[in-house]
Amino acid sequence: KSRFADVTLGPPIEVFALNKAFADDTFENKVSLGVGAYRTDKGQPWVLPVVREVEKILAADETLNKEYLPILGLDAFSSAATAMLLGKDSAALVENRAFGVQSLSGTGSLRVGAEFLARVLGSKYFYYSKPTWENHRLVFTNAGFEEGREYRYWSESTRGLDIEGFLEDLRKAPENSIIILHACAHNPTGCDPTQDQWKQIADVMQERKLFPFFDSAYQGFASGDLEKDSWAVRYFVSRGFELLCAQSFAKNFGLYNERVGNLTFVLNDTSYVPQVKSQVTLIVRGMYSNPPSHGARIVAYVLNNPKFYDQWKEHIRTMSSRIIEMRKALRDALERLSTPGDWSHITAQIGMFSYTGLNTAQSEHMIKKHHIYMLRSGRISMCGVTPSNVEYVAQAIHETIT
Ligand code: PMP
Repeated sequence: KSRFADVTLGPPIEVFALNKAFADDTFENKVSLGVGAYRTDKGQPWVLPVVREVEKILAADETLNKEYLPILGLDAFSSAATAMLLGKDSAALVENRAFGVQSLSGTGSLRVGAEFLARVLGSKYFYYSKPTWENHRLVFTNAGFEEGREYRYWSESTRGLDIEGFLEDLRKAPENSIIILHACAHNPTGCDPTQDQWKQIADVMQERKLFPFFDSAYQGFASGDLEKDSWAVRYFVSRGFELLCAQSFAKNFGLYNERVGNLTFVLNDTSYVPQVKSQVTLIVRGMYSNPPSHGARIVAYVLNNPKFYDQWKEHIRTMSSRIIEMRKALRDALERLSTPGDWSHITAQIGMFSYTGLNTAQSEHMIKKHHIYMLRSGRISMCGVTPSNVEYVAQAIHETIT
């Protein structure tokens, strides 16, 4: 008998299964609105020109070699990434009580941070928004937390934030619980708290002694403005919170498969930095030993060179504006068709995703009848919408609803 005979079949990961189904579909006008990756006007993946340029420079640089990076990664990368998140003049940086650790994109940074919190700080509970990015639960559970709990976030009836429910659930959370917060462009709803609402969230978290763990997967990609998209994190730092933040460079640099990420730590006293770094070092050493260099070198090169930095900022404006335009185009098309319902949420939402309000049966109908691939939750990636398919997508939604 095989040792593996009793291994049960795990459930498929929805977005990856959806992608495969899309690839296998032979229908000519099929549309992929599942996976969260940027597409051009023509529906093609985009390697940012500044990335191509820096890759050529790096390839020609014979002083670079393939030696291991340090366990906590490339310092030129993690320092620049931390400064991009907190702002160069952040008190936490000036006072040397913040630092970054290069990790494996957003997911790996979340995992290392979660394991540190569960193992070293002994945190028992993590809270995530209902709904949230579908991987938060698995990452935090695998990292050793005892229990994951939801806090209310999305209101079906207003298609907006349920701030009262959110605050009420925070008030009930035990002290020292970890609260996962989306820094901007909430996935999947595309709905963020206003600045005033962030203040209320911070008030309750301070009062209840809850620990913020920000997930920043879309800085610059959401609004086109790095400052705006990091406002919430910077605000919490200014309020004196100690916190962690996982940064992904998948979307804003288009470096999805290079796995470039940074885990920022903000402490309230510089004297604890060496001890914390030493414990993170042990976690990384026992997990993957050290991170890869290629993507981190690209990002470090761009962030540390004003000319390339400006060029990159132009790219994030290009990507974010295209998405914002497609939101308008989709809403206009639905309104022109007089599709029942209010579609203002499509333009009110921000970032890569839109929570359409379509239910599971309707979302499945979109796939089966129209070959438009979207999540069962009704989430669509706005990146998959282009000037040439927006009309088709709108007509399909119209047919599905009416
Ligand atoms: N957090 C959120 C909210 C995300 O949407 C994503 C990407 N889908 C990630 C983290 C992590 O992505 P990656 O590991 O590719 O950086």
